[in-house]
Amino acid sequence: MMNQTWIDVSVPLRTGLVHWPDDPEPTFELISDIEHGAEANVTLCRMTAHTGTHMDAPCHFLPGKMPGIDRFPLEAGIGHARVISLPDGCDVISRTELEHQDLKRGERVLLKTRNSRRQWATEDFDTGYVGLNLSAATFLANAGVVLIGVDYLSIGVFKGDGAAAHRALLSAGVWIVEGLDLNGVPEGSYELVCLPLRIAGADGAPARVALRRL
Ligand SMILES: [Zn+2]
Repeated sequence: MMNQTWIDVSVPLRTGLVHWPDDPEPTFELISDIEHGAEANVTLCRMTAHTGTHMDAPCHFLPGKMPGIDRFPLEAGIGHARVISLPDGCDVISRTELEHQDLKRGERVLLKTRNSRRQWATEDFDTGYVGLNLSAATFLANAGVVLIGVDYLSIGVFKGDGAAAHRALLSAGVWIVEGLDLNGVPEGSYELVCLPLRIAGADGAPARVALRRL
């Protein structure tokens, strides 16, 4: 049985949205306003490429001439995906949490943690979010997944090997989606549409991401 309803798992971008501590606050400002006599409403967006629901490009953490987000292959973001739910007690996702999942080469995997229920409710950045450590990232890279998604602003843990986890995935050609809101999305099989903005050469881009239950 197919449920035809698409679920939007992207976080609404808005001024004041929780953001990475070192980044400026995202702002969305009406610079032309019909209410003030203008012919059209026009919003000026100011944010880093890693705001809200977004993707990382290989050049985000790898030196040299690595691909930017404009080189994201559409087929990597469109197709079957698996949502894996991790228990609330899981504070760091390690290899142990993933190795019994029977991951196949070419799979798209979205990891749902307590982040989805808690982290988006506050505008304060929470360093206690659930992320992957290097053992999990290396495991996913070796398993050959094509895309991995997480439900807060970084795939890596805040303190520790977060950068190394990014490098392990990006250097293996695994595409990273961050900042998903998987609240209310049960574990299972889905059709995924994940499309980052095509910003030339950029190290990442906001993405609209939707799921439909299979
Ligand atoms: Zn990242």
